Amino acid sequence: TSTNTPVLKIEGLTRRFGGLVAVNEMGLTVHAGEIVGLLGPNGSGKTTAINLISGVLRPDAGSVMLGDTDIAGWPTFKIARLGVARTFQLVRVLDGMTCGDNVRAGLSFNHREGGGSVEDLLARVGLAGHSDRPASELTYIDRKRLELARALALRPRVLLLDEWLAGLNPSELLIGIALIRSLKDEGLSILMVEHVMDAIRSLCSRCVVMSSGRRIADGPTDAVLNDPAVIEAYLGA
Ligand code: ADP
Repeated sequence: TSTNTPVLKIEGLTRRFGGLVAVNEMGLTVHAGEIVGLLGPNGSGKTTAINLISGVLRPDAGSVMLGDTDIAGWPTFKIARLGVARTFQLVRVLDGMTCGDNVRAGLSFNHREGGGSVEDLLARVGLAGHSDRPASELTYIDRKRLELARALALRPRVLLLDEWLAGLNPSELLIGIALIRSLKDEGLSILMVEHVMDAIRSLCSRCVVMSSGRRIADGPTDAVLNDPAVIEAYLGA
């Protein structure tokens, strides 16, 4: 269901930390209904880019267009309300609460139409019937599922996944990949930072590769993974 409508379009995005340009005139586009992989060696600026899009960090320059609105530099809560949801590299769930209350915390941010009920959201990520369970009791993969349900409660226009599959064992990985695919099949637009090659190959229609803060490749997944400049960036890292 991929169309040519850009849901998220970044241009000239730049962020410095002292003398280091962590993200350097970065650009990328996510179209409606597609999964775009954001790749690159460690330290290339991927998480910083996600933080700039979601408002955790303010850019020094550049635009982040969500539909027709430039959200660059907006506070996180406003960006979340507009429908940019994310997960974190280190899973963030509220351990003192039940699964249901974790999802309700996400729903309370959703000022847009719909979003579904707590039960529906838990069911979508494979946690049906777990509403009353304390989040602290969950296994690692179930914590990841819960974090995803909370993100989905925002009824996102775009979902940002920061290494959501990291740390899963091989059988959990298959479950995780199937879950992300089911979200794409529902029509969700996703930008995912990922290192797991099987996941990238099977989920991402396009990939953008960063190296030292810059975009060095952008195109169909197969072409990007075979691009000599991309191979060089990984070998040189
Ligand atoms: P990646 O996600 O690709 O591993 P990061 O975005 O985490 O890369 O980091 C990009 C660069 O920015 C790295 O050199 C990192 O050390 C630096 N960096 C990231 N966050 C900060 C920060 N808060 N302060 C200073 N430097 C940072």
